[in-house]
Amino acid sequence: MNRFDVIVVGGGHAGAEAAAMAARRGARTLLLTQNLETIGQMSCNPAIGGIAKGTVVREVDALGGVMGRATDRACIQFRMLNRSKGPAVWSPRAQCDRGLYRRAVRSELERLPNLLFAQGTVSRLLMSASSIDGVETVALVKYLAPAVVITAGTFLRGKIHIGTTLEVPAGRAGEGPAVEVAKHLEELGLTVGRFKTGTPPRIDGRSVDFSKTGLQEGDPDPFSFSFYSKATRPDQRACFLTHTDQRLGALVRRHLKESALYGGAISGRGPRYCPSIEDKIVKFPAAQRHQIFLEPEGLDTSEMYVNGLSTSLPPALQLELLQTIPGLEKVQMTRAGYAIEYDYFPPTQLKPTLESKVLPGLFLAGQVNGTTGYEEAAAQGVVAGLNAAALALSAPEIVFGREQAFVGVLVDDLVSRGVDEPYRLFTSRSEYRLLLRQDNALRRLGPVASQLGLLTPEEERKKETQLRNEERIRDVAIDSVITPADANPVLARVGSSPVSEPMRIAELVRRPEVRLDELLLAIGVEFEKDAYQWAGIELKYAGYLAREQAAVAKLERLSELVLPAGMNYRDLGSLSFEAREKLQTVRPRSLAQASRIPGVSPSDLQGVLAAVLRNQVDRASDVSRETHGGLT
Ligand code: FAD
Repeated sequence: MNRFDVIVVGGGHAGAEAAAMAARRGARTLLLTQNLETIGQMSCNPAIGGIAKGTVVREVDALGGVMGRATDRACIQFRMLNRSKGPAVWSPRAQCDRGLYRRAVRSELERLPNLLFAQGTVSRLLMSASSIDGVETVALVKYLAPAVVITAGTFLRGKIHIGTTLEVPAGRAGEGPAVEVAKHLEELGLTVGRFKTGTPPRIDGRSVDFSKTGLQEGDPDPFSFSFYSKATRPDQRACFLTHTDQRLGALVRRHLKESALYGGAISGRGPRYCPSIEDKIVKFPAAQRHQIFLEPEGLDTSEMYVNGLSTSLPPALQLELLQTIPGLEKVQMTRAGYAIEYDYFPPTQLKPTLESKVLPGLFLAGQVNGTTGYEEAAAQGVVAGLNAAALALSAPEIVFGREQAFVGVLVDDLVSRGVDEPYRLFTSRSEYRLLLRQDNALRRLGPVASQLGLLTPEEERKKETQLRNEERIRDVAIDSVITPADANPVLARVGSSPVSEPMRIAELVRRPEVRLDELLLAIGVEFEKDAYQWAGIELKYAGYLAREQAAVAKLERLSELVLPAGMNYRDLGSLSFEAREKLQTVRPRSLAQASRIPGVSPSDLQGVLAAVLRNQVDRASDVSRETHGGLT
């Protein structure tokens, strides 16, 4: 009975979501992976979420995915990032117990009756004239299906580098690479590129002098990534903060040639936004120090992840580097950091469904498409899994819009612009940053999940209740008037000026420091705690939301605007460094051309547009000054 509708190859973050989505969509699905024990394995840092990524986790969850549920079950420290900014840009992030996370992913997947599991390393696709029939493993076992999703991560011709002399073929530390299938896919006509990434050393927490480090506790408030399942939060743990100093910088500079990344052992491009310590020392020579976070790997181990110290220097040197860091003078290194080089498939060879253009029936998702990060992989897994099921079941394809989800932004960026370095999500990649929030992910994508039949009746009921409660809160806020006697104590508590007349709650809540739940409580109205956020944000930011829509429309209208040939992009401080660098090199002729450069985000385009318009105004006033003999 090796016949399925969909086969998902790989049990990482893309594979887990692809398998969940295909099974939820009704396809008899096989998750076939090298090692069943490593389903949901976090190859690098044990953390999920963060800026933009936290929103993706909630989007994946709204569609019925596993990442949010597993994170809730494995979270040993939760922090809402961006709290100092408005709640519209809050970003949830969880430090996870690596082992708990892995087991949670597997058990969440095992709840799905349509999903089966098998261990094996895929070596090739089984093909007939114009379609895919399935896959074969290195042990010559055949599994049949009309749709195959490959999510092989960093394993395709993966090669680990430590220093300039140690080079080990591997998918990640301790696991073999996937070589046969990589060669086979290239022979079938897929274009292949080479990227690299790296990971820091791990240390034994028992050898750290925590009196020399800063303490970073998590948020006390409960937060659940999942809309549908409420897990009991495990015990919580603190993280610790320290920093490098000049001694580390000098050591790195002295031994730069011994780094795999700098000694010429690796040629592929690495992730700009997770730079190695070698990169940081070379690119920011003036920086006196770099922050290092010591993060627990789990509840039942003292091992810690040294966030900020990714390196491919030889192990003995890594230990020397570590021991220059305050608090780590006597540290024991449990695992050395390393760099890994791997094949990826430039994603412009895919359709927006993540199906290959040249090999119909083959879907690709995750790191193999040139992205980096668990959440980026999960997002693609969702799209590939849903569409692989659609192909197998002759159901409609699903493509998420850029205005609908970060999942849509990510896939559109990949397939229409491609990548020239490992792609990571940021809020600035979206032109609809205020629309695509973590709090409204269920509202944006829950209805899609229902329409595609992805939810159980219980999940359907939870979704309906949540959305209904949120709307009721908004309506009550719009309809209710609060008296000064009720409002002023609430306002006084947050240092906001008192009111002298009765006011609509929907209006008063626009003050940045004022909370909707507190105003409603003051008039005796109380709802479920987690239902307030959406209404509060919608009411508070109504003006900003409208302005964002107008800015997007303006950008679209002016897309053919010709950009001045002599424009100095390096001076445009509002643009990201990446965008400035790439625009200066490419020198696009029009805004439309600029928008097609990988790494130039919608918010960078807004910055370019503003600069061009400002120049035009300046030039016009110069002309008018000359014409009218202006004052000197
Ligand atoms: P993976 O999680 O790699 O999963 C691939 C799966 O495919 C595995 O289960 C594997 O066993 C299976 N597989 C592979 N080949 C076959 C085959 N032929 N047959 C069957 N199964 C197969 N991300 C960041 O955001 N920041 C970082 O700093 C960072 N550093 C990293 C450092 C290292 C050393 C590594 C290895 C990864 C790093 N990552 C980092 C990337 C992050 O781990 C990935 O983005 C994420 O895991 C990608 O998920 P994925 O599902 O695409 O692939």
